[in-house]
Amino acid sequence: MLDALESGLSGDNLSVFRCLRDRALKQSHPIYVVGGPVRDFLLGVPIRDLDFVVEGDGPELARWLAERLGGEVRVHPRFGTSTLVSGSCRVDVVTARKEVYPKPGALPQVTPGTISDDLARRDFAINALALPLTEKRPEIMDLHGGIDDLRQGVIRILHPKSFEDDPTRIFRAIRYEQRLGFDLEPDTLDFLNAAVAQGHIASLTGDRIRHELEKILDEDHPELSLNKAAVLGILEKIHPALGEKEAVDRLDALVAGTHTGDDGQKGITHLTYIGALVYSLSEIQAEEIIHRISAPGAWSRVIREVMSLKSREDALARDDISSSQLADIVGGYSAEAVLVFARLTKLPIVSERLALYSERLRHIGPALTGNDLLELGVLEGPELGRLLRQLREAKLEGTVSTEEDERRWVQERMPKAHE
Ligand code: ATP
Repeated sequence: MLDALESGLSGDNLSVFRCLRDRALKQSHPIYVVGGPVRDFLLGVPIRDLDFVVEGDGPELARWLAERLGGEVRVHPRFGTSTLVSGSCRVDVVTARKEVYPKPGALPQVTPGTISDDLARRDFAINALALPLTEKRPEIMDLHGGIDDLRQGVIRILHPKSFEDDPTRIFRAIRYEQRLGFDLEPDTLDFLNAAVAQGHIASLTGDRIRHELEKILDEDHPELSLNKAAVLGILEKIHPALGEKEAVDRLDALVAGTHTGDDGQKGITHLTYIGALVYSLSEIQAEEIIHRISAPGAWSRVIREVMSLKSREDALARDDISSSQLADIVGGYSAEAVLVFARLTKLPIVSERLALYSERLRHIGPALTGNDLLELGVLEGPELGRLLRQLREAKLEGTVSTEEDERRWVQERMPKAHE
């Protein structure tokens, strides 16, 4: 079993694993591989990050590892957790713990515990699996029927109050369901629906909600989890305006056609999903969401840009708009906001113009710089700026193309010495 798991590892992950296996065989504190790596090994899919639990001092073990393999350790003393980043790998080493939730949505009170306690505090049975490194011929510890759930393809909580204790598990459940192509086990689905209906998501801080959204956005296909979150009424508990049915259609429209070909999700990023989610909201609602999820700067920026672009839709649809006017309107917005708006506007002409901007106009500018103009004899000052702007317009309109054209164009417009 252990050899098979080891053979699925490489590089820094393999070094960490071997180092801890060696130490586990020599010391008295049991060390376990837990959660995701055991689950993924059983599923036969690539193992991502390694997670270890020690019935002892997790942070001490992480520091010991860092001394041997190099890397940096971050410790969270309150939870006895530590993360080692070594080369390309990120390893969690945590002290086995018992958790008690003082009230729904609050962070748990934590005390050191056994591996059984640690497995019992986990989110789903498929993650409550451990492989002891201490034994010569270890067997997987499966106290909650996780292996059976993996066979049946279901996500199951470990106790009825699980979602209430920690509503972030609502987001986690749909994320694993969509990542693995599993189903929520029927009772788990009932408990999830009840927790959503009872408003437990409201007890989560903005940071915790955003963290779960970030994890969803890190998945290969975030739109699947976001769609499911919309369908189950989870998004509308973040903000009522996210509950409208069109949110799902918008996510589909955003990714339409981007999962084929070598380009993969061309241009689709965390920010474009965020932009698509808020697309139809009012500015006030958008600001409320920024506040609710403690949106980081980049998220706030794209949300506000999408709002702003929407307010300029009429100008972008005008009949007589020139290429340089188009570039003037769109030029200050991020590529993500422009992409979201291009895919979601109901006006085909606006979509076409934004595509023209992104694919062509955005890359057009004069070859000559301010210095070149000075060398040609233009005097420093407002005149220089005006000529550069006009030269850019001329390039966008196509009346000037080569660098030679540009020089001629400038020389024709330079104030003559006696003027
Ligand atoms: P993977 O499970 O593939 O590692 P991930 O990186 O999203 O996915 P993490 O969020 O790092 O997972 O969680 C690692 C493990 O910690 C999970 O397998 C789970 O057992 C446990 N865990 C994380 N969050 C919770 C939670 N809110 N409640 C209970 N257990 C959790």
